[in-house]
Amino acid sequence: MAILKVALMGHPVLREVAHPIPPDHVQDPEIQRLIHDMVATLVECDGAGLAAPQVHQGVRLVVVAGDEGTAPLVLVNPELTWLTDDRVRSWEGCLSVPGVRGQVERVAGVRVDALNEAGERVSYDLSGFPAVVVQHECDHLDGVLYVERCDLRTLSFMDELRRFGLASPPGDADEGSAEEDAESGSASDPGNTGAMGRQAVERLISTRSRPAERVPTPVRGTRLLRGRAVLQEN
Ligand SMILES: [Zn+2]
Repeated sequence: MAILKVALMGHPVLREVAHPIPPDHVQDPEIQRLIHDMVATLVECDGAGLAAPQVHQGVRLVVVAGDEGTAPLVLVNPELTWLTDDRVRSWEGCLSVPGVRGQVERVAGVRVDALNEAGERVSYDLSGFPAVVVQHECDHLDGVLYVERCDLRTLSFMDELRRFGLASPPGDADEGSAEEDAESGSASDPGNTGAMGRQAVERLISTRSRPAERVPTPVRGTRLLRGRAVLQEN
């Protein structure tokens, strides 16, 4: 596994529309290597999610951190469907826009249909923080950054938010916490957002050969989790 360099805002790759990965290519060595490396990079950066364009790869692939001890969620060619008209307002951050946070209004519940790392079709109904993370990451696949969706009056340097105690945004993750502050301990320990450890990476690797046994829990900030994760087998 390799830790990949994260593209920063201003790099053209972050503005391009990423290409779908042909389903019969998901298990190709180069795609599997990219998945491994993105998971490793997500762990290294202590992020909540990472999209392939952020590591200079213009393909429709995202990884989302799971709860502690659970494998990250791998979504190939994800498609979102809104499940509600309700909105949730959350602090978001992005590994490609380090040190800054802003509040974004997102759809409160979404269904994501995708392929997993084994090329199998999966579908998840998500709400709260996981729904926000997935929407943020899928935006990356269309060349959209959260800063163009955020309430610009809230756009702030992390250090200043901490300094003035104006908010309890999360640490340098690719996502912010939801308004209720789903990230564990973020108020008193803003940098401590690491819900996924290296064990999770190992688990991803070890379970790839038998994905049917895996019950993904694409969740950080379980206080906000009201969504159901449903694994659909082919
Ligand atoms: Zn991002």
